[in-house]
Amino acid sequence: PFSKLTSQPNDPLLQLITAFSEDPRPHKIDLGVGVFRDALGLTPVMRAIKAAEERLLASQKSKSYLGPEGDKGFVKAIAALLFGSSLPDRFIDGIQTPGGTGALRLAAELLVRSGVKRIFLASPTWANHNAIFRQVGLEIIAIPCFDIINQSFNLAGFIDTLATASSGDAVLLHGCCHNPLGIDPTPDEWGIIAQHIAKLNLLPLIDIAYQGLGSGWSEDAFGLQTVLAAAPFGILTYSCDKNFGLYRERTGAVYVTSPDQEQLDCILSNILCLARTNWSMPPDHGAALVRLILEDKELTHLWRTELEEMRRRTLSLREDLARLGQVGHINLAPLTQGKGMFATLPLSPNQVEWLRSQHAIYMAHSGRINIAGFRDGDVERFGTALKSLIAA
Ligand code: PMP
Repeated sequence: PFSKLTSQPNDPLLQLITAFSEDPRPHKIDLGVGVFRDALGLTPVMRAIKAAEERLLASQKSKSYLGPEGDKGFVKAIAALLFGSSLPDRFIDGIQTPGGTGALRLAAELLVRSGVKRIFLASPTWANHNAIFRQVGLEIIAIPCFDIINQSFNLAGFIDTLATASSGDAVLLHGCCHNPLGIDPTPDEWGIIAQHIAKLNLLPLIDIAYQGLGSGWSEDAFGLQTVLAAAPFGILTYSCDKNFGLYRERTGAVYVTSPDQEQLDCILSNILCLARTNWSMPPDHGAALVRLILEDKELTHLWRTELEEMRRRTLSLREDLARLGQVGHINLAPLTQGKGMFATLPLSPNQVEWLRSQHAIYMAHSGRINIAGFRDGDVERFGTALKSLIAA
């Protein structure tokens, strides 16, 4: 029965993890995998999460099912932080999902169920975006709108391609801290993007996986709030993997915004059907921890303090990199304009390969680096390696 299948290549980033762990060179640097790391190169469990786990252990009385919507307190708490009071004219509802990926998959299936045929997305984007939308049968229209040399967003290019969309098409936007580029629209640009989305009657799908790691917790929500306030309907997908450090606990959510309650109820009933046939119920642990943190002032304070430390670490690493300035054809100075953990450097796959073989520096073939992957002293070594690459 499986004779029609052809072997699929392994995910290149997952391959990179194995290659890195097998590399015996002690000075190796891992800029590949997209997890936050501290100055020692570790991804510790956040203190707020540990404290919440202790409380959960002491208080949880049952592991019985919660239902396909997951932990309602979690869904409500994240919604409050995301939307605040920014959308007085919209009705909002959502469900918990297995990670941001589960939310995206569900959103993609909802689009197909609703008759949407095409999705526009600023390109390049997180590789799984393309894979998920392609798998459900949506046509993907890439919007080329990034200038990697100058690390800037090309608003005019974005709007020009978006203008070719038809009413009812979907458009995907990264809420903040674009993966893989770290290049986000400015607040003014968000305003213009929102106007165009509304004018063209497009359905925005905003994916946010790094809230609090860019410009700050509420600042990072500005773009999504602006777009969702302008468009009558919208979808938002959320991941807690980075900002709560919950990667393997698969903690996320999907929300829909609607101008009236009746339509929202209908959309939500479809979302619940999709959840039921995909995973039935989402895993509980991560969402329960997030809820415990957000419902408790002291834990919220602790978590926000830790998140801010993480944000500041990536900011100061961006500054360290920028101080290297022009290295051969690469100008690192504009990296301070970027947001979040990722940046993409104008390096060819051969150059990336060379940095790995000669200097034990691991990064994605696209030239994407995880800025949080630099430990103390690594930035200087990276600069030296880039210089030697240029000389080679
Ligand atoms: N969206 C973006 C832009 C991402 O970078 C990621 C991965 N961190 C996700 C969604 C999915 O995250 P999760 O691990 O929660 O599935």
